[in-house]
Amino acid sequence: MPEGDVDRPVVDSPDGGYGGFPERQPADDPSKNFFVPKLCNHCAHSPCVQVCPVGATFESPDGVVLVDKDYCLGCRYCVQACPYGCRFIDPRSQTVDKCTLCYHRITRGLTTACCEVCPTGARALGDLKNPSDPIHDFLRDHKVHVLKPQMATGSKVYYADLDGSVR
Ligand code: SF4
Ligand code: SF4
Repeated sequence: MPEGDVDRPVVDSPDGGYGGFPERQPADDPSKNFFVPKLCNHCAHSPCVQVCPVGATFESPDGVVLVDKDYCLGCRYCVQACPYGCRFIDPRSQTVDKCTLCYHRITRGLTTACCEVCPTGARALGDLKNPSDPIHDFLRDHKVHVLKPQMATGSKVYYADLDGSVR
C-alpha cells in the first residue's frame, strides 16, 4: 500500500510489474505492501463494455463480461478503459483477450480452472443469486474488499481481509 491509510488499500501495478517492484519498504513507512492475484472482475458497471464502439465486449445474461473476437476491431479502447489492467491484445489475432471466468466450464456446472487447481483452496466461485450457495456464509463471516472501490465498477471479485486485518 504505497499511499492512503491503513483502512483503504491502494492498488498499484507500476508498468504491470514488468520492471519489478521496490525490494524493500522504507523502515519509517507504516504501510504494508502485498501482492494479490488479479483477474477480470466481471464488473456490473464495466467501463470496458461502455467504451467498446462495436459491442464486441458485452455482458452475458448471467453477468459475465465477454469478448466476441469476430467483432473486435483491436482498437484498444477497452484496454485503456479497464482500471485493473485486465485486458491485452492477443498478438496472434490482434484482438483483445482477458479472463472469461472460464465461461465454457461454469456454464457446464464446473468451477473455474483457477479455483480447481488452487492447492490451498484460496479461490472459490460463488453464485450470489443462489441463496443456498455457501458463498453467503463466507461473506457473512469474513471482511471482504474489492479492488479500487472508488472506481464504482461493481466488481464481482472479492478479496477476504485485503487490508490485513482479521475480523
Ligand atoms: S475488470 Fe476490466 S475487463 Fe473486467 S469487466 Fe471490469 S473493466 Fe472490464
Ligand atoms: S479492442 Fe475490441 S473489444 Fe476492445 S473496445 Fe475495441 S473493438 Fe471493443
